[in-house]
Amino acid sequence: MSQGRDIPTEIMRAVRQKCGFGCIICGLPVFHYDHIEEYASVKGHDVDNIVLLCPNHHQDKTSGRLTKNVIKTYAKSPANLLAPRTTAHMMHLRADDAVFIVGSNSYHFQFSETRNHFNAIVLDGLSVLGMSNDHGQLTLNLRATDATGREILRIRGGCLSVSTGVWDYDISGRRISIRSGMRIFDLEMEILPNGLSIKRGYLRGKASQATIYPDRIIVTPGKITFQNCNFRNCDRGLVVR
Ligand SMILES: [Zn+2]
Repeated sequence: MSQGRDIPTEIMRAVRQKCGFGCIICGLPVFHYDHIEEYASVKGHDVDNIVLLCPNHHQDKTSGRLTKNVIKTYAKSPANLLAPRTTAHMMHLRADDAVFIVGSNSYHFQFSETRNHFNAIVLDGLSVLGMSNDHGQLTLNLRATDATGREILRIRGGCLSVSTGVWDYDISGRRISIRSGMRIFDLEMEILPNGLSIKRGYLRGKASQATIYPDRIIVTPGKITFQNCNFRNCDRGLVVR
């Protein structure tokens, strides 16, 4: 039976899982869905016939530089499948200021000649969310975990990679989500031109954890709630010692 052109969401999820949440050739966690045998000829969306390809390798396939046979070989052993995390994707942000919106709280920072580092959230001495500026080039840092403290996504030196052990990771435009079950979001965030907006997530220090909800941050132990707090131009935002 022929299906519509749009790939059903559960098929897309199954494809992401089998491909290790990245391009099957290079592992980048920024991807398109590609029908190995074109949709126009198969008129359906079989998981076995769909793979993830980064924009470069998708273009290589479309233009004939990558053959279907090569794609089929990589589909049997995707680049990320045996690795603990995906290949890192370099994010290019440029601005003179940084902004993080985290669970109804906001952290703004204006960089200057002498102020190049901004730590928005510091837990037990670890900067888990921050930004550096090198002549207008912004470098993001983030370490996100699941509820148990296991790392699920990191942005280090502006390079984003995802733990391949997660149940689902999806990237659509500027939005990124990681789930550990159908409706269990461990991370929901959006990439801004000069920062991040995090709606849900977990940030973990050595002993403390910040749980991010759309309307607040709760820091444990102690259950301290941060709601509608706006930090402006402090070198450090939320600091837990
Ligand atoms: Zn690729």
